Amino acid sequence: MADEKTVLIGRCGPTVMLPKQGSKIVPLRRSTPLRVDVAGGGPVGLAFACSIKSLLGEQVSVRVHDRRWMRQGNRVVWKGLAEGNNRREQVVTLQSNVWAALPAAVQERLFTPGKFSEMWPLGPDSPASKGRPRNIKIRWIEDCLLDMAQDVYGIEVVPGAYTPPTSFDGLHVLAIADGARSATREAFKDQFGTPSRELFSVDGSPLDERVLGIRVTAKSPDEHTVPLTVAQNRFLFNSLGGGFINMRLTAEEASEIVALGESGPISCIGKFGCTMRPASNGRFVCDRHRAVFKPSVDKLSYLWPRILDGLRFFGVGVADVVGINSFTLGMQQMSKFTAQLAPSTFGFLLGDAANSLHFWPGRGLNTGLKSALSLAVNLQKRWRGKAFRAADFAQHEGIMQQLQYREKSRAWTTMLMPDSEGTPRGIEDRIREGLQGPYDRAALVQTLFERVIGIKKRMGDRMGPLATDEWYYGRVNALDTRTLKVMVESGAWITREIGGEEVEVPSAETKVAEPVRRGLSLVG
Ligand SMILES: Cc1cc2nc3c(=O)[nH]c(=O)nc-3n(C[C@H](O)[C@H](O)[C@H](O)COP(=O)(O)OP(=O)(O)OC[C@H]3O[C@@H](n4cnc5c(N)ncnc54)[C@H](O)[C@@H]3O)c2cc1C
Repeated sequence: MADEKTVLIGRCGPTVMLPKQGSKIVPLRRSTPLRVDVAGGGPVGLAFACSIKSLLGEQVSVRVHDRRWMRQGNRVVWKGLAEGNNRREQVVTLQSNVWAALPAAVQERLFTPGKFSEMWPLGPDSPASKGRPRNIKIRWIEDCLLDMAQDVYGIEVVPGAYTPPTSFDGLHVLAIADGARSATREAFKDQFGTPSRELFSVDGSPLDERVLGIRVTAKSPDEHTVPLTVAQNRFLFNSLGGGFINMRLTAEEASEIVALGESGPISCIGKFGCTMRPASNGRFVCDRHRAVFKPSVDKLSYLWPRILDGLRFFGVGVADVVGINSFTLGMQQMSKFTAQLAPSTFGFLLGDAANSLHFWPGRGLNTGLKSALSLAVNLQKRWRGKAFRAADFAQHEGIMQQLQYREKSRAWTTMLMPDSEGTPRGIEDRIREGLQGPYDRAALVQTLFERVIGIKKRMGDRMGPLATDEWYYGRVNALDTRTLKVMVESGAWITREIGGEEVEVPSAETKVAEPVRRGLSLVG
């Protein structure tokens, strides 16, 4: 190196070795690129990979591993049902502060007409300057990003589970985005600490909620259902010309979520993410396990009529149901999200691996994408072609701690909503209360209808045209009296308590590194 001196091209550009004047001109050697591995290629892992590549271009080499991928010819594609992968069909709502921060090419690809809708109103995380929140299918996000990773960004995509190596061998960054049950986080628990459920417990027991996800084709415009969803906390409809009606359950109702095989109950729905699909005679069955969803065939089921009544509220019939699945939601506190894994390797928890949230306020993916964008921006700002130091990530770790505080306190408030005296009451308590008499039908109809109309008026100037008051009255009045009482008792969304300032991710540096052509000398 004695006859070379080093210049930096651009603030965060690559280090280029410049031959001393007068000496022989030699091809330039570029510094080693930033080496990034990503464990988990779900929406967050892939969005991170595409974002860092779009910010650092050739200065970064990215490799993503996912166990739900397989090779098909010279491409990597998502496994399907035949390979044991139940693709996720749910619709998620992306806030405009989040979708507008994704690389422009990604936005262009994701938001193709017909592939998204705008049903929710403007709000603090979706300001008018950027636009309304957008509903989009997780599956579509995953499909687009996996294609773009290969076709646009030149990212190495590796089918199969990620296994932590015995030596990191020059790797600078390990982004851990393998979901809520992250095995990679577990493998590095000495560095990240063990997540704790203590803060999200009631009377010493972690609070878990069981939810049914009912996938439907819809009959009315997406936006019309918003006041119906916001007026109660039992059912949530997130739609994209059809979508998911989610239903929160009591423990007794959850005990009815059973799949029947030929010789009795078997592990299926709820355990393996199986979807029960419509079959003959009104039954719902899982093709993979050849099992029947018990409530759909059990004449004594308490749950089945309650499900059907919830569907009716949104103008949906049982013939419009295309799938039913079930999941459990709970939260845990992480002590930190950034850790040094080896002398020159740093690990980062992203997405659900970092913060798995209750989705009722619809923030899980938004929070995950914010974490991915924050890390990409931090890496862009700090990469200088040599090993990082812990101090380089103070900004990103700060954003992660802010996200944890903001999003988990929001979700916890939703799980344990305060009653009119300010005393927190879990949703199960409220549902149980609603299932008990006495019932004054006229008063219940009036209360729920007034709530819906109040919400319609409040939201009117922040979204498109809503249905007539008569349409809403028809929806409320069609409900069974018991369902009406459950909805009234479950309370309207506590938008004031969960609203307020949102966590902002710093923007990327706009100054791009000057392009340096491979092998081109700067002198001579
Ligand atoms: C019903 C429902 C509705 C929701 N609605 C919303 C909403 O409206 N708005 C919102 O913001 N969020 C919502 N969410 C949350 C959102 O879906 C999640 O936050 C989001 O999917 C998390 O993305 P992720 O990439 O971090 O994790 P995941 O989507 O879980 O992806 C993790 C990936 O890692 C892979 N993987 C796992 N282990 C390994 C391994 N060892 N090696 C390699 N790969 C591995 C998996 O195959 C998977 O592809 C909702 C969730 C549910 C269940």
